[in-house]
Amino acid sequence: MRRTLTTRRKFLTATGGLTIAGLALSGNATAEETDVSRSTFKLREGTEEETTVYETVADEDGPTVVVVGGMHGDEEAGYRAANYVREWAIGAGTLVTIPRANARAVERGTRNGPDGVDLNRQFEVGERPGTELAREIWNLVRRYDPDMLIDLHESRGIYRDDQDPGLGQAVFHSQQQKAYDEAEEAVRYVNRNHVSNPRYLFKKSLATGPDMPPYGLLIYKASYDLGATSHLVETYEEAGGVDKRVGWQLQIVRQLINDLLSGDSDEEVDDEPGGDEPEDDTGGDDSDGDAGEGDGSDGDGGDDGSGGEPNQGPTARIETNPANADELDLSSDDVVTLDGSASSDADGEIASYDWNVEGLGKIANGGGSGDTVDVTFTGCGEMLVTLTVTDADGATDTAQVTLSTLPPIRE
Ligand SMILES: [Zn+2]
Repeated sequence: MRRTLTTRRKFLTATGGLTIAGLALSGNATAEETDVSRSTFKLREGTEEETTVYETVADEDGPTVVVVGGMHGDEEAGYRAANYVREWAIGAGTLVTIPRANARAVERGTRNGPDGVDLNRQFEVGERPGTELAREIWNLVRRYDPDMLIDLHESRGIYRDDQDPGLGQAVFHSQQQKAYDEAEEAVRYVNRNHVSNPRYLFKKSLATGPDMPPYGLLIYKASYDLGATSHLVETYEEAGGVDKRVGWQLQIVRQLINDLLSGDSDEEVDDEPGGDEPEDDTGGDDSDGDAGEGDGSDGDGGDDGSGGEPNQGPTARIETNPANADELDLSSDDVVTLDGSASSDADGEIASYDWNVEGLGKIANGGGSGDTVDVTFTGCGEMLVTLTVTDADGATDTAQVTLSTLPPIRE
């Protein structure tokens, strides 16, 4: 296994705050400089199954997390999200990413490669994995002995009797109490802030375990053979465009790993009163996830109150056609184009645009996950449009615009 050291330089990494719903929504991550070294190496080198492993190591010691995508080649949001994760900066520990575990399946866009073998059925607990590819993946995982393993998938059905492939949007976690807590926190965060349609709320569920089908899942082997907490993330292929699903995957992975790899240990939090808050901020619950927030449509990320530190989260911005449509009295049959492409991210790119319309309006084209949408009225009155952008690090920001028709009757 040849290793290539590709980069070693200072990265600005967003740490802290990201686990706190309100801060994340405002893009208020504090930033600090972190040294990471990056290297890559190949599995199944020189074969048609060759695939690249990306290792990111922070200067500060800490836990190890392995993130896997592309076990199934037709589950696009999973391997696309992993392709972003491989570039993440971390404050502590080690992040190992295999974005295209079954590279041939990903190339073909099919669940399995040409051999017809389902890669995610080759990892029997306590046994030697079933194929060369599975063995090399497992040897790698075993060598890192991770504290957490995350496997990114997509599902075709939704909550159909716990039967694969009817899994819906879900995080399936391994048997440890800690895994339960990790999944609970991630699902609650994403549901509260980023899922507008109740049908697509993520579920958290204990994975069935190695004694029941489906057998041979990597998350079982990682949890039973190595003691890692393990999570299998599923987005539902009809829940929105692929960008939107990539955004959800990134948000969930970010939540799952943030405690482990941000470098913000509990001691440091204690040393900094007024800094980070506990994640379970159930008291004084900030309902920032709801529309109607006061920060309006300007998407200005500058007033973040984080002590003037650079803001590395994205900034959401909505432009309208006709211009300044929020100041016009529109007709109920007007079509307004909303353009989010002026949204920006200081240290990367926008991975996901997610549009949500409340009130008397609807999205007229597409699934609402491109950078531009057309909206139309469904009656006379107001609609509130919210754009949530997620950057490649899984941080988010929102912008809003209210559109109204001629007022029917004024009181
Ligand atoms: Zn899958």
